[in-house]
Amino acid sequence: MQPFLMRFIQSAAHYSELPATEQAEVCIVGRSNVGKSSLLNALSGQKKLAKVSSTPGRTRLLNLFEVRVQQPAEKFFGVVDLPGYGFAKVSGEEQRAWQDRMRGYFENRASLCGFLFLVDVRRTPTPEDRALFSWLRDQDLSPLVVVTKAEKIHKSKFIGVRKDLAKELLVSADSIVITSAHSGLGFDVLQAAMQALLPDPNGDLPASPPVSPKV
Ligand code: GDP
Repeated sequence: MQPFLMRFIQSAAHYSELPATEQAEVCIVGRSNVGKSSLLNALSGQKKLAKVSSTPGRTRLLNLFEVRVQQPAEKFFGVVDLPGYGFAKVSGEEQRAWQDRMRGYFENRASLCGFLFLVDVRRTPTPEDRALFSWLRDQDLSPLVVVTKAEKIHKSKFIGVRKDLAKELLVSADSIVITSAHSGLGFDVLQAAMQALLPDPNGDLPASPPVSPKV
């Protein structure tokens, strides 16, 4: 895999503090510890890219990154790492609080076109996870389910994982990518699937200029 050229742009406590952009944007949603930072680092081939966003105090912020794709045509898109929505045992109440806090971002961020929903390979989505996933889809966003830490199970089980998730989240098997940040498994497919969430997957449109941090 050729890593994405990625750079950190800005953190924000509220989505309205993020720079306005015409670049298409995808966001990353997942429980704390699901492997979001590791995924971003692996995607970019940088060990510490997401560390910027994981320093204490920043884990509850929205963190905007910019990806520069060079092939087949140069283009840029945004990736927003959203705060993790709590550990596996949190109550539905905490999850609803997360949803309320993020609602403005999902409803008003015009550049947002899709979301990555991360699921740990060893965990079955809870009813709350399923409700959140369905709510995100209702925001008119294209979903991509990203299974993390896949090297933890034998690959003979991948078919079953894919089938179960497709059934639980009501998505097609094509919307599920199985990855491991530790082994690099699935990252070629993930990069292509992320670009397929963008409105111009073929790169036919002119590239937007890079985003500058809001001052
Ligand atoms: P975040 O809280 O969602 O940002 O999760 P992190 O990326 O910090 O990862 C949480 C834990 O899961 C860390 O101990 C990581 O080393 C581990 N982890 C992340 N990705 C993988 C993976 O692909 N395989 C394995 N085995 N562990 C992983």
